[in-house]
Parts: sequence; structure tokens; C-alpha cells
Amino acid sequence: MREYGAVEMGGTRTSCAAGSSPEDLSRKVTFPTTAPAETLGKVVEFLREQAPVAIGIAAFGPLGLVGGRIGVTPKEGWSGTDLVGPVRNAIDVPIGLDTDVNGAALGESRWGAARGLDTFVYVTVGTGIGGGALVDGEPIHGLGHPEMGHISVRRHPDDDYPGICRLHGDCLEGLASGPAIEGRSGIRGEGLSGSDLAKAVEFEAFYLAQMIRNLVYILAPERVIVGGGASRLPGLIDQVNESLIEELSGYPGLAEHESGFVVSPGLGDMSGLAGALVLAARAFDRAMSSE
Ligand code: ZN
Repeated sequence: MREYGAVEMGGTRTSCAAGSSPEDLSRKVTFPTTAPAETLGKVVEFLREQAPVAIGIAAFGPLGLVGGRIGVTPKEGWSGTDLVGPVRNAIDVPIGLDTDVNGAALGESRWGAARGLDTFVYVTVGTGIGGGALVDGEPIHGLGHPEMGHISVRRHPDDDYPGICRLHGDCLEGLASGPAIEGRSGIRGEGLSGSDLAKAVEFEAFYLAQMIRNLVYILAPERVIVGGGASRLPGLIDQVNESLIEELSGYPGLAEHESGFVVSPGLGDMSGLAGALVLAARAFDRAMSSE
């Protein structure tokens, strides 16, 4: 089997691995995402030892897809960082780059909860909210890439939390990301219990169901996967499915929307690294076919 290098670069942590599928990613390292030069230095150091035939990078954004640079980001020191150049200068193999959510979608498509599907969306709910859509098997790239977490939603009638998005205040991310859950209750999501937990799940499902309603009406996805740390609130996925049925009000009335349309990732925490493997394989195949 060909060995690919996989890099999942998050705003907090970066993971690197080598292999050909999620099952054989034995050599895996994870370290904090610090300053760009230091972080990319560690990435290069790891990858050099693995001697992969191609490398895939699934990275936090916003990501400019031309030139492989990070856009303007609140993460200090990272705006304008070239992610591909330093890796390519050190290891001359094909490199595939995409957003972390598109990467996770590709991973779920190949090995996870979206196997056999052409059109679906992977949504992550964590420090922020983002989504990667595959349409006819390909990630959507337009002018930049979609920023689904920043759509506007109507407020839950009992929610007076102002919202935490630095740009929009009470957009979806502002009301339903992990920091919003904590900001509203004063307790991190994993520490919630009893009526606090029930309320958090109700609000979270109310907001996420609106997002998924919009996705259903715009993209007609075959499934929606919801991952990320905040998606693990007990009972959340079931509640999102129920709230979505209310949001859709029977239109278009597809049986698929009624149960199990919204699911957890099949690969758990491995979607991103698995997606980086797919990005590497795609870059390798592109390079071969252009020779
Ligand atoms: Zn926003």
C-alpha cells in the first residue's frame, strides 16, 4: 500500500499521521498549534521521517484555496500564513489542501457515515461551527469556501444570550458553538447535567435544526453528519432529528428526513485525519494523471 502523509491542523491542536487508511494510521503525533513556523516545523519534521508519496493537509480557516494561505484569522500570527510552501520546500511530493470540514467530509465519505453518498454535509460544532458539503462527490469551492457557521438564525423565544460571534454576535456560531453553550450557562458543555443539560440540548437542537433545514432546502443532501466536541451533548443528535422534522413541516416530506437523517460521524475523532489521507491520495492521482 502507498503511504500517505496526513495533517489535520486545528486552531488548538495539530495531528499528523502516515498510512493508507484510518486502520493503519499507527504512527500518529499530536501537538498544540502554536506559532506558524514552529507548528509547520514540527509537521515537516514528522513527515520527513515517514517519506510519504503524497501529503494531505486539512486545515482550519478561513483558507484561501489559491496559493494555500490562511486568510484573515483571529488566531494570532496566522493571517496570511502559507501552509503548503514550507512543506513542499522540505518534501517534494504532491500536496492536497482543503479546509478541515471538507477534509472531514471526504474522510466520512470514504470510510465513515457517508459511504456511498454523493451529496451530504459534514457539520462540526466545537469552538466554532463549520460545514463541509460534498455535492456529486466533490467539496464545494466558490469564491473562497462556504462559512456555514455564520448563517443567521431566528432566536429561541427563551434565549436572551447575546451571542458570542466576534463578527455577527448572534449568528449560528454566536448562539450554538461550544463557547456559546458555556457563555450562556457558565458551565462547559461536558459538565452540564439535569435541567441545565436539557436546556442546552433544546437550544442547541433548535439552532442546528434551522441550519440543517436551510441545507436541506439549498443542497438536498442525502444525509447530514454532525460532529465536533459540542455535538456530544447527551441526546443532542436525537433532538436535532426531532427539531428538524418540525422545521421542515412535512416539506418535502421525504421519509429520509424522519429518522436517522442527522447522524454522528462514523469515524469519531478520526474524520479529519482520514480526510487528509483522501486529500493526499487525490493529489497523488492528479500528479500521476498529469505526467
Ligand atoms: Zn458569525
